[in-house]
Amino acid sequence: MRIIFLGPPGVGKGTQSQRLVEYLGVPQVSTGDMLRQAIHEHSEVGELSEKFLNAGKLVPDPIIIKLVTQRLAQQDASHGYLLDGYPRNLGQAAALDEYLHERETPLDGVLALQVDQEEIVRRLTGRGRDDDRPEIVRERFDQYLRQTAPLAEYYRQRGLLYMIDGTGTTDAVFDRIKSVLEKIRRNHQ
Ligand code: AMP
Repeated sequence: MRIIFLGPPGVGKGTQSQRLVEYLGVPQVSTGDMLRQAIHEHSEVGELSEKFLNAGKLVPDPIIIKLVTQRLAQQDASHGYLLDGYPRNLGQAAALDEYLHERETPLDGVLALQVDQEEIVRRLTGRGRDDDRPEIVRERFDQYLRQTAPLAEYYRQRGLLYMIDGTGTTDAVFDRIKSVLEKIRRNHQ
């Protein structure tokens, strides 16, 4: 299955993605993880991206699109993947559409995890990542609202969007995710 996992920072996407890839048996393609790794390794992508991550801003599209394209071409992604943190804006979504269209490998669905803003702030401030300082958290949330939130509408229009209530225990949220996956499977039959 080829799935996009959408949701604001702090919604619990990371935790759920890990369970989801295990359940589906596909690799998790997390652009945030790939960028943090690149920075750690001081690779060219890392050098180019670091200042954007530290500022809570999006890394420029050409860098990200190339990174993801190379990743999706790897063997382990040939039977599907979970995209976590990508696409992040309409330009990336268009690039992804083109890539998938050329290969005749359409998306199966876009899962959008939702919780209210107060809950997100509460969760984020307890996390302790470098980019979790309050002013950077605000910036990342802002970027999400301006650039990423419009993707929900983009995918809704394509009949691919599935909203998921992200409140409650990890298990409760994961149960909702599983029932959405069942629905997607049924729609394919
Ligand atoms: P994340 O781990 O998904 O919250 O991403 C952490 C940071 O990596 C973001 O704040 C951005 O600076 C950068 N980043 C991750 N994914 C993307 C993307 N698809 N496009 C641009 N920047 C990204």
